[in-house]
Amino acid sequence: LLMAYDPARRLARLQVSLERAAVNARMIYEVLDLKPRQADRADAKPLAITDASIDFRNVRFGYSEGETILKGVSFTAEGGRTTALVGPSGAGKSTVISLIPRFYDPAEGEILIDGQDIAHVTKQSLRNAIAYVSQQPYLFEGTIRDNIRYGRPEASDAEVEAAARHAYAHDFILAQPLGYDTPVGENGVTLSGGQRQRLSIARALVRNAPILLLDEATSALDTESEQAVQKALDEAMSGRTVVVIAHRLSTVVRADKIVAMQDGRVIEEGTHEELAARENGLYARLNNLQAPAVSAGK
Ligand code: ATP
Repeated sequence: LLMAYDPARRLARLQVSLERAAVNARMIYEVLDLKPRQADRADAKPLAITDASIDFRNVRFGYSEGETILKGVSFTAEGGRTTALVGPSGAGKSTVISLIPRFYDPAEGEILIDGQDIAHVTKQSLRNAIAYVSQQPYLFEGTIRDNIRYGRPEASDAEVEAAARHAYAHDFILAQPLGYDTPVGENGVTLSGGQRQRLSIARALVRNAPILLLDEATSALDTESEQAVQKALDEAMSGRTVVVIAHRLSTVVRADKIVAMQDGRVIEEGTHEELAARENGLYARLNNLQAPAVSAGK
């Protein structure tokens, strides 16, 4: 029914809702809010991407009046590199991620992409530059093909299939009763956790966006799916600016930069070697305690 009319426009609108919903389950109510909440500024220009580097400059933010969740966050996610956000639950990692596509706007400070304040660019051009992979991939009522195409409604069948191949999803898709036309969702086939994740990675890949925001899954998959998902993620991360909420030690260790957060602030920044060597540093302590932020290493 979802696809009954004007699929491209519906897809385009749902894409926004999908991203919002995926950032945080607490945003689920926004799925019903199909109109963008704030319009672009009158002088908004399209974002011009060069390296796709992201700069947080003294960003302060709270979800409601009088509340401060981010208390002056500054860091740079270098273009084409992976930046891992770590820190205890409630530190503000998901909040940092949700400001990049402008699901919310900072109360103070600014976020620049390639030197342009994202508050001054069109939302459409900003969101076109970003792909998002969440912990809990959301599957819509529809076929496997539709579900990948949510990433970019105008993608051709060949582009959908290429994305699925790069996400190591093509083979399991072909093994489904109707291949790419197999319905999923409530009235469709049941896919395993790893398969759902690979579909969501394919959905991100079909966007071909220079920036990838990733909320790494905490729930364990069986070893085989784990490896397939990891290969798909490696493919998706390659050559992009990645900001990842990291839960696996292996992701953190391989990141080009680690940003350790606590209580709405950046406490430390550096590589794994640098931070692990700091006596009594937040990161060194998290590492020793095997706290959730950096545990579950495989
Ligand atoms: P976790 O790893 O548990 O997700 P986190 O480091 O990502 O933690 P956030 O989810 O950013 O932390 O949460 C930071 C603070 O902001 C918490 O106090 C949380 O309750 C609050 N918060 C997060 N999202 C929302 C929201 N949509 N509305 C209101 N408050 C929120």
